[in-house]
Amino acid sequence: MQTGAGTVGPRRLLKRIRDMMAASGSGQERLDRIVKIIAADMVAEVCSAYIMRPGEVLELFATEGLKQEAVHQTRLRVGEGIVGDIAAHARALALADAQSHPNFAYRPETGEEIFHSLMGVPLLRGGRVLGVLVVQNRTFRDYSEEEIETLQTIAMVLAELVSSGDLVSLDEIQRVEGTALLPARLEGLKLNQGLAIGRVVMHQPRVTVRQMVAENPDAELTRLQEALSGMHSALDDMLAASDLGEGETREILETYRMFAEDRGWLGRISEAIKSGLTAEGAVQKVQEDTRARMSQISDPYLRERLSDLDDLANRLLRHLIGDRTAARNADLPDDTVVVAHAMGPAELLDYDRRKLKAVVLEEGSPTSHVSIIARALDIPMVGRVRELLSQVEPLDTVVVDGDNGQIVLRPGEDVREMFAGTMRMRAERMVRLALLRDLPAVTRDGVQISLSLNAGLLIDLAHLEDTGADGVGLYRTEIPFMIRSAFPDVGEQIDIYRRVLDRAAGRPIIFRTLDIGGDKDLPYLPNGDDENPAMGWRAIRVALDRPLMLRQQLRAMLRAAAGRELSIMFPMVAEVSEFDAARALFELELARERRRGHAVPLRTRVGTMVEVPALFFQLPALLRRVDFVSVGSNDLMQFLYASDRGNPRLADRYDPLSPGALAFLAGLAQACTRADVPITLCGEMGGRPLEAMALVGLGYRSLSMPPAAIGPVKAMVRSVEIDELERYLRELIRSSRHSIRENLLSFARDHGITV
Ligand code: PEP
Ligand code: MG
Repeated sequence: MQTGAGTVGPRRLLKRIRDMMAASGSGQERLDRIVKIIAADMVAEVCSAYIMRPGEVLELFATEGLKQEAVHQTRLRVGEGIVGDIAAHARALALADAQSHPNFAYRPETGEEIFHSLMGVPLLRGGRVLGVLVVQNRTFRDYSEEEIETLQTIAMVLAELVSSGDLVSLDEIQRVEGTALLPARLEGLKLNQGLAIGRVVMHQPRVTVRQMVAENPDAELTRLQEALSGMHSALDDMLAASDLGEGETREILETYRMFAEDRGWLGRISEAIKSGLTAEGAVQKVQEDTRARMSQISDPYLRERLSDLDDLANRLLRHLIGDRTAARNADLPDDTVVVAHAMGPAELLDYDRRKLKAVVLEEGSPTSHVSIIARALDIPMVGRVRELLSQVEPLDTVVVDGDNGQIVLRPGEDVREMFAGTMRMRAERMVRLALLRDLPAVTRDGVQISLSLNAGLLIDLAHLEDTGADGVGLYRTEIPFMIRSAFPDVGEQIDIYRRVLDRAAGRPIIFRTLDIGGDKDLPYLPNGDDENPAMGWRAIRVALDRPLMLRQQLRAMLRAAAGRELSIMFPMVAEVSEFDAARALFELELARERRRGHAVPLRTRVGTMVEVPALFFQLPALLRRVDFVSVGSNDLMQFLYASDRGNPRLADRYDPLSPGALAFLAGLAQACTRADVPITLCGEMGGRPLEAMALVGLGYRSLSMPPAAIGPVKAMVRSVEIDELERYLRELIRSSRHSIRENLLSFARDHGITV
């Protein structure tokens, strides 16, 4: 085995390459010389550069060691052979025995059969693969981590050469990055509702690092320090100036601010500077590594952390290069739709809110930090749009439909008009609904219906005022847990619940204990490998198996509500004995608080969610024990119909407005009313006016829903008369139809009910 680049040191090598890049001659001539230098310095018999051409093809552009006649002849598709594999996954590979790799593709014209070992790295720029740089040896050589690092650093410098346009034209590079000038409708994931039409602004047209190699590492380290402290104080200013108020949204930004001091990250940047890069070159190198790692990682929590670091790297680069946010904002169109691969939470705040109309991402998830901020700021957002960046052009017109998780690029006149019409109607409707805010939710025949909202973040509570909701019917405590990096201890939890209670200012709130598992995994509490997580170890099952966790949560709630009312409920209860066990833990904590002399709530109420059908058949026993019942129709429907609530293929298969489901809900409401136990429905169903109308007709007098639904449901309530509806429904739920939606719609139309 030979030892390679370690003997020469990356700085000297980098300097020679930089000199070569600045030398005269065509791009091709310079590349030819560079591969020779790399081969010699890394003690490799072969060094080859493959450059990406349009159509996802990697072309051998220069080689030292392979047959020269293969240059510009050998072409590999992305994904083909080891070189194609490196490009496809944007990751480095080092193989002592490359020929036994399953992806090895032999190209006779290259004469490479005599080389056994291979190390290759992608040429990356802005997260895109522009080519692949490879070294090969005859022996079965084990390349070291250091050698891979060195080759990656060189690859960065080479990526500059490729993107300079000296090897292939700039025009072609753009085509490699892909263009499509026809209208296109792209599907994604709803991250925040709302519609917008605007012009595409690519999220920070890449900060261009011109100077990659430095003479004086100490001077570069000083520049890094200065830029870091500038960035820290700018972040502090931004935090101070943001109008997000207190709460989780602010915490996200504060966590982000802490990342700016992450020692591992800063250490890697300093190391890269010491290896001969400029400060900005080093930041970019570490950023490219992070991006490459991001593309490999599926764990949403880790991706979120890495994307925060990506955001920070951009910010730091701008501080190093002297690019200022204010200047960029001045150039934004008034109808900016920001398009990005991924985005950090703070980056969203950099944009002028008056100009920013929507955001579209290639990545993103509903719980990602940037989505939470977008919801808090009410900016429509669509994520997970595949191949987004390769299809948009700056200043393209784009329609963003956050309600349906889709975008339309370069829409024709008719499509644009249609969306503009919908937006106008919505705006008018919002004005009308706002007028309803202070009017009571009372039916035409005088029945009061309580409308509450579902919340999970402190910011959601702001909607109590603007919707005129009666309170919070479902506070999902797992949401604040999901955005944290570690399990909040009792003190932190007290703080969360206290702020929620303070913010509600006396309006009733029902706290639901942790409903983790199913689609809501906590990053720091792996849920094992449940084959069917929705029916797996989740919610109350986790809580009863980890009683300490539940007791801590109950203790925090009791302390936070000292001197006030406290209502709690348990999720996914399937049998009365589970409720008994959970309630016993609550009573234990309450007694403990009293014993220890802590102030306790003025009044406590303990209820259960009904989401598992089995509970329906234990109602007499259950209703003797609970203070209230809340129907989780989302889960209830999935279990009633054995139909996965997250499976798009089943989304319309069964209708909650079907005789079976409604008969179940009617039976439940009647039993509760007879037993004088308050019942609320807090699933999404309660927030849809037609469904809410049916529920009112079945006897529900309390509904809890997403904030945006309160206005439309109140409009329905104020236009309905219950008496006739009740009779009509009684008939219908005995029918054998698949759905009674159409009948209900006709009823609403005939009776002037706003649905
Ligand atoms: C439900 O299942 O209807 C419910 C309200 O709970 P979640 O959506 O949080 O599971
Ligand atoms: Mg549920």
